[in-house]
Amino acid sequence: MQKSTFSLKKIITIIAGAVASVVFLLPPIIHLLLSLDNADKQLRAELRISTVHLNKFISNNPVTWTSQAIRLQAVLEDIHAPGTSIRILSLSNGRLNEIRQILEPLDFPRLTRQEKLYDYGEVVGEVEITLSLRPLLIPILLTLFLSTIISLIIFFPLRNIPLRALIQATSALLAAKNVAEAASRAKSDFLANMSHEIRTPMNGVMGMIDLALDTEIPPKTKDYLLKAKNSSRILLRVINDILDFSKIEGGKMTLELLEFRLNALLNDSIELFKPDTNNVALIIKAPPDGIGWLIGDPLRLQQVLLNLISNAIKFTKHGEIIIQVVPVELTDDTARLHFSVKDTGLGIPKEKQATLFTSFTQADESITRKFGGSGLGLAICKRLVEMMNGEIWLESEVGQGSTFHFTVTLGRKLKSSDFNNKDKISKTKDIKQLSQLLSGAKVLLAEDNIINQMIAKNILNNVGILVDVAQNGLEAVRMVATGDYDLVLMDIQMPEMDGYSATRAIRSESHGQELPILAMTAHALAEDYDKSLEAGMNGHITKPIDRQQLFDTLIQWIKPR
Ligand code: ADP
Repeated sequence: MQKSTFSLKKIITIIAGAVASVVFLLPPIIHLLLSLDNADKQLRAELRISTVHLNKFISNNPVTWTSQAIRLQAVLEDIHAPGTSIRILSLSNGRLNEIRQILEPLDFPRLTRQEKLYDYGEVVGEVEITLSLRPLLIPILLTLFLSTIISLIIFFPLRNIPLRALIQATSALLAAKNVAEAASRAKSDFLANMSHEIRTPMNGVMGMIDLALDTEIPPKTKDYLLKAKNSSRILLRVINDILDFSKIEGGKMTLELLEFRLNALLNDSIELFKPDTNNVALIIKAPPDGIGWLIGDPLRLQQVLLNLISNAIKFTKHGEIIIQVVPVELTDDTARLHFSVKDTGLGIPKEKQATLFTSFTQADESITRKFGGSGLGLAICKRLVEMMNGEIWLESEVGQGSTFHFTVTLGRKLKSSDFNNKDKISKTKDIKQLSQLLSGAKVLLAEDNIINQMIAKNILNNVGILVDVAQNGLEAVRMVATGDYDLVLMDIQMPEMDGYSATRAIRSESHGQELPILAMTAHALAEDYDKSLEAGMNGHITKPIDRQQLFDTLIQWIKPR
């Protein structure tokens, strides 16, 4: 630190010195160079004229040199420019001295040209023309003086800014920048840790509520549990929003490129809301599926849509919510789509509309207290839509309702290539359908937390999956070697051996190379997902366990027996 301050000080001193010298000296130097250039040009012109005149003079007056000298002087005066003199160095007829007397010697010669004189093609003498710089001295000195004055005027007000203070301020700024960068890294680490720490007990709370709801209970208890389940869902949404928002802020949000169908995405989206709509009708108006396969991130597109639909449901007591999609521009390989979600709810006052897409903003705080919400939803939608090369805006009248519009540009294919067509949109299936697909499969659950073991085991047993439990990574490696498993669900943080090392160990054995291994963890950041894949896992399921997501993923990886 000390060393860098010292060298910084030196550098600043040298730069300041160089700047001051340039400011002081540049104007007179430029002036001098321009003057010399001018003088040289003038000299060349004089030389040309004088050579012509002298040639004429010598050839036309071959009789007496005294009168010639007088005439020569007249010629020279004629062509004389200030600061210029002409000297005859030699003449073929030897009368040089006489002519020399006529010409004044110069004290301050600078620029000189020598020329030969020709008389009808023969050399008759040599002439030297000299330019004196004496007349230029006054303007040069004047310029020097003026530029000094101007520099003083410029630097005088700055004399009180000590260089030391400047250096201290610069190092303070550098230190502050380092602190800010460290704080930003600490914020990301804190968020990742908090996310993990909150998700683990949330998995316990949500899972236990689900397990309790699966048992025989009196209606009143069931009602309490359903309310608790709803609250935990809202809490999880807030946690997810905060995590998404910090991912976007940190530039860590990336979009996937997967093939999907628009109508499947729309139907699945409203399916999720059916139990909550009460008196409100959910209507989809979309083009028939002639658009073909779209290429983009269906989960993130669905996230935007779900957020708008859930807001519309939240603020609409009766009437209808229309979800409309209009293709704005279709080419062979791109589709620009216009989505809108129109409700007949409360509406939003004009003055509140402009700020709704900024983070932590809500139109009416009293409404927020009633309905809940973090105020991050629309800010996240805006960023996601922009990442899909689109825009988001709204139209709303208080008492009439609101319409949220957004556009996105997606890739398009008339036929699916099936190359990465793992359909990520959740498919709602009932227990019977799931049992048909998954019953009898053998799954190894590597999980150290007893509550999480109970929850996962119960969910899987419910559809007929047989579950063995490994208490840590080491045990999981041993059990895989002897058991005949269809799939492994692998927690990441475990004693003895963590999930990454256990996966690497399993993959290094011949029997473990084809075995599907899915991370099941409260680590929910994109980089955690990448780490799981790098360790050799096939996928990543986040906690709290979402049954739908779990079963969708299991169906992808478990081959029917
Ligand atoms: P939140 O998570 O709080 O719902 P959003 O960013 O999704 O955050 O929404 C911000 C605010 O915008 C809401 O609190 C509400 O005041 C207003 N708002 C959003 N959608 C609607 C709607 N369809 N009707 C009325 N108000 C809405």
